[in-house]
Amino acid sequence: MTPQSMHDAIEEWESNVEALATETTLVCSRCITDTDLWTSVEPAEEPGLCGFCGTQGNCVTFENLEPVIVEVIGQFYVSVEESGAFHDDGEWSEHVEDIQNIVNELLQDAVDSDVQAPLVRYVSSRNAVQYGFVRTRDLWASLYEFHEGDWHRFVEEARAGEPLKAAAGLAAALNPTVRRLFAKITEVATLEDRFREAQPLLWRCRPGPLVADYCHAQELGTAPDGMASAGRLNAAGHSCFYGSTTKRGAVIESAKHGGADVELWAGRFTPSRGVFHLDVMEVPDAPSPFAPDAADTHDAIEFLARFAETIRQPNNPEDTQHYLPTQIFTAYLIASQDGPEAIRFASSIDPTSENWVVFVDRDHCVDSQAPDEPELYLVLEPETVEHLIANDFIGDSV
Ligand SMILES: [Zn+2]
Repeated sequence: MTPQSMHDAIEEWESNVEALATETTLVCSRCITDTDLWTSVEPAEEPGLCGFCGTQGNCVTFENLEPVIVEVIGQFYVSVEESGAFHDDGEWSEHVEDIQNIVNELLQDAVDSDVQAPLVRYVSSRNAVQYGFVRTRDLWASLYEFHEGDWHRFVEEARAGEPLKAAAGLAAALNPTVRRLFAKITEVATLEDRFREAQPLLWRCRPGPLVADYCHAQELGTAPDGMASAGRLNAAGHSCFYGSTTKRGAVIESAKHGGADVELWAGRFTPSRGVFHLDVMEVPDAPSPFAPDAADTHDAIEFLARFAETIRQPNNPEDTQHYLPTQIFTAYLIASQDGPEAIRFASSIDPTSENWVVFVDRDHCVDSQAPDEPELYLVLEPETVEHLIANDFIGDSV
């Protein structure tokens, strides 16, 4: 294509979009690919000739579609002026999006590609505001506004060796919006079958020289309550068991903290029974934004996705801020009556390995045989225990 003919093609496309961006433009049900969007406008349907695919059928106008789209925007966004965002040094205090991008993204998977540009033009030209929009529903960010006093009390209690009491107190202190969304996450996870039972064999390492002889469950398993350092899922003081389904995975995780030359004691634990857990190895797909209750479900899945992404990164104990939302959500989970006993998640450093955090304290890590009770124990297999140097085991892969 010559530059001139390219230019002509763009002009033609432009005037085509412009001509179709009017209130009376008809779209048929086949060109509206999102069934939830179609359901919302269906009451207005009438027979007509589709302005896009050219077939005769049940159609609605752009004028019918606009209020539905605007309502969905209203569930996710607020104008900059209404949001209280402020301008400082030439930058907005919040991430600002313009209406065109917002509508474009909303319609991406909702209408046929020929419909998209004219409809975006029609809706955004009628709904532009001076400074653009900001997202109203960032649960992750709202957790950083969590009352510092409540968080300190939580950490204090966890350090005092009462992690469950601490978690219950923290869950009670959550603001209603956060609590509602956490409840929604639990609901979505239940619907998507992410609460499961499994009995994984879990490798765990503890740094130490040969003479330390960490060959018993209480030495190799969960640290005593009150002593644990903060992790991806636990606040300082709340001990839990981090393990990997492969020895390699466990060694790499430890080498990330201690360096490639770190000396480790390693051993494998078996759960005494099936472990009821939240599975975030894969995160469910978000529903259509036009589905009933979509905004809450979106927030829930977005949070879950970010949760999974954050915890799969190697732990950096220095970076406590980074894990605040995952720690708060975990505290909420373990505080609930029938909450999970563990979380299963992916590892970013070894794709063949699964990571698990099991909420058992040191008293529930035992040698050889679990007591005959329904409570969950992690039982060390003595024949798996060995001392190794990370580098020798994993080679140059770290
Ligand atoms: Zn059509």
